[in-house]
Amino acid sequence: MKPSGEESGLLSRRGLLVGAACAGVGAAVGGIAAAGAPAEEAGGPAPPVPEGPGETLRMLRDLRRALARKPEERRWGMVIDTRRCIGCHACTVACVAENNLPSGVTYRRVFEDSYGDYPDVRTSFMPTNCMQCEKPPCVEAANRVVPGAMGRTVEGVVTIDYAKMKGREVFEVARKACPYTALYLDEGRNHTDGTPAVQDYETRPVPEYGRTWTRGETKGSTRKCHFCLHRVDAGRLPACVSTCTGLAMQFGDLADPKSLVSERVATGACRRLHPDKGTSPRVHFLDDWPAEDEKEAPPPLSNRPRQDCLRCHEFGR
Ligand code: SF4
Ligand code: SF4
Repeated sequence: MKPSGEESGLLSRRGLLVGAACAGVGAAVGGIAAAGAPAEEAGGPAPPVPEGPGETLRMLRDLRRALARKPEERRWGMVIDTRRCIGCHACTVACVAENNLPSGVTYRRVFEDSYGDYPDVRTSFMPTNCMQCEKPPCVEAANRVVPGAMGRTVEGVVTIDYAKMKGREVFEVARKACPYTALYLDEGRNHTDGTPAVQDYETRPVPEYGRTWTRGETKGSTRKCHFCLHRVDAGRLPACVSTCTGLAMQFGDLADPKSLVSERVATGACRRLHPDKGTSPRVHFLDDWPAEDEKEAPPPLSNRPRQDCLRCHEFGR
């Protein structure tokens, strides 16, 4: 398989711009290739990280440094910089391919909102996934119905036991408890239903939550983002992070003050969604919209250089 930008290590600015223009198509092609690849290839051992500048290499170095420590000393987290998102949905396609997601299931979505009056119209994009909450209400709700259905790893990734979390009842209870609409029910559909034959790639086993699950085991279960733990454990970045040509997502260890994610959060500019819910999400957002406690009026649209997705959400630090 051709090395990605992550493995080849160097993405020039020009390459980024060309890549951004082609990202949708590229990701779709890459996604189809990955969808047909065995799980071992997608999550296998990663090559050494070359020296060099750039956030991708920095994140990979952060990751390898974190993996050298004990799991209980790590806190995986993510920063999503909505200002860098161009709404190409390549991350969503990469995620579907990486995790072999069936029809009707997605682990991440990119919300889009247009506002303003012609000719001063703007569009904002907001990528989201499971926030890997430190106090996840979904876990408590699901486990009340089916004990042990959900949990958390020591590194803070919220887990689902596909053998236990079956059916609509437990899904609905957890879905209603989640303030971030991050959960999906796998109803057993295939992308190639209604064609002469369901394609082999649709029944490929998937590595999630520390083991490999057959398609039969995932059918009927609740599904969500797991930070591509199989890739992370192998020294690779989550598929969405390594696919985004705009570098809109940063992933790393929030327990390491030298990591890129910790550096971003330490600036004080990051916000978290729905702080009023007390969930302590591990996903932080960067945006230009002023915090409510800053009491600033939003600048006029024509003077606003970037995006402001968080204007529609409750947010805080
Ligand atoms: S986060 Fe990146 S890959 Fe996803 S839609 Fe935005 S620009 Fe595209
Ligand atoms: S975002 Fe939702 S599904 Fe994910 S851990 Fe938080 S409450 Fe649970």
